[in-house]
Amino acid sequence: MSELDSSIRITSVCATAATLAGVTPSTEVEPANALVTALAAKKLHGEKTDRTVIYNPDAVALWLYQKYTDIFTDAALSSDLALPLCSVMPSVTPVCFASMYTGVMPAVHGIQKYEKPVLKTETLFDLFLAAGKRVAIVSTAGDSISKIFLEREMEYYIYPTVDEVNCKAMELIEEDRFDLIAIYNGNYDGTMHKCGTESPAALAALQQNVDFYAALVEKIRQCWKNHRVFYGFCPDHGCHEIDAECGSHGLDMPEDMNVIHFYGIKEAE
Ligand SMILES: [Zn+2]
Repeated sequence: MSELDSSIRITSVCATAATLAGVTPSTEVEPANALVTALAAKKLHGEKTDRTVIYNPDAVALWLYQKYTDIFTDAALSSDLALPLCSVMPSVTPVCFASMYTGVMPAVHGIQKYEKPVLKTETLFDLFLAAGKRVAIVSTAGDSISKIFLEREMEYYIYPTVDEVNCKAMELIEEDRFDLIAIYNGNYDGTMHKCGTESPAALAALQQNVDFYAALVEKIRQCWKNHRVFYGFCPDHGCHEIDAECGSHGLDMPEDMNVIHFYGIKEAE
């Protein structure tokens, strides 16, 4: 880690969500995020969460939050905590989401470059399933999250477009059929690769990610009044501008390694 890297790793997400829900990883993983467990202690008074929703917008760098703070207003207002986290190397999508959902470094889970094999390592999804909980992934076709977590006894809602993904995610909250839902949006990443990290099109995609997250939290509050919910806005890696006005990531540099995560805990009413 460089001296500019955030002190909390994205690998902490797995144990954080598991611990809050009363599920224990069977292997050695990065410990839960201490700020989130402190928040849970304060809000839940020893009770466990019974719903978990993790929103994964791709490539939302910490520097975007620092430079375009206004864009994130509704994400901040919908959450209890905004925290800088550090990604893993190489900072590319399948490697990072594998680390986020297994709680271990790439050398341990085995995805160490841009490839999308089905992960055999224990994931947060497996932990929930083993505890008898119901799990769903809502994501776009061909993307990492739609591929590396396949072959499990859970529901996969895979669609061609981000709009369909987000529409389905809202529907699933309303139906209340799952204990853990992971939702992937790759529209900021896709746009910044083509048009540049700070292009109007990319910043519009970023705003869409924030708007969807805020709407998702609002939906959770409306539909899940009696549930104790842990939710988060959890990107995989950051990004940086390269030549020809296009964006990239994958390097061991602060722009690619530092991401912004938002977390919230909703008490039962
Ligand atoms: Zn990514």
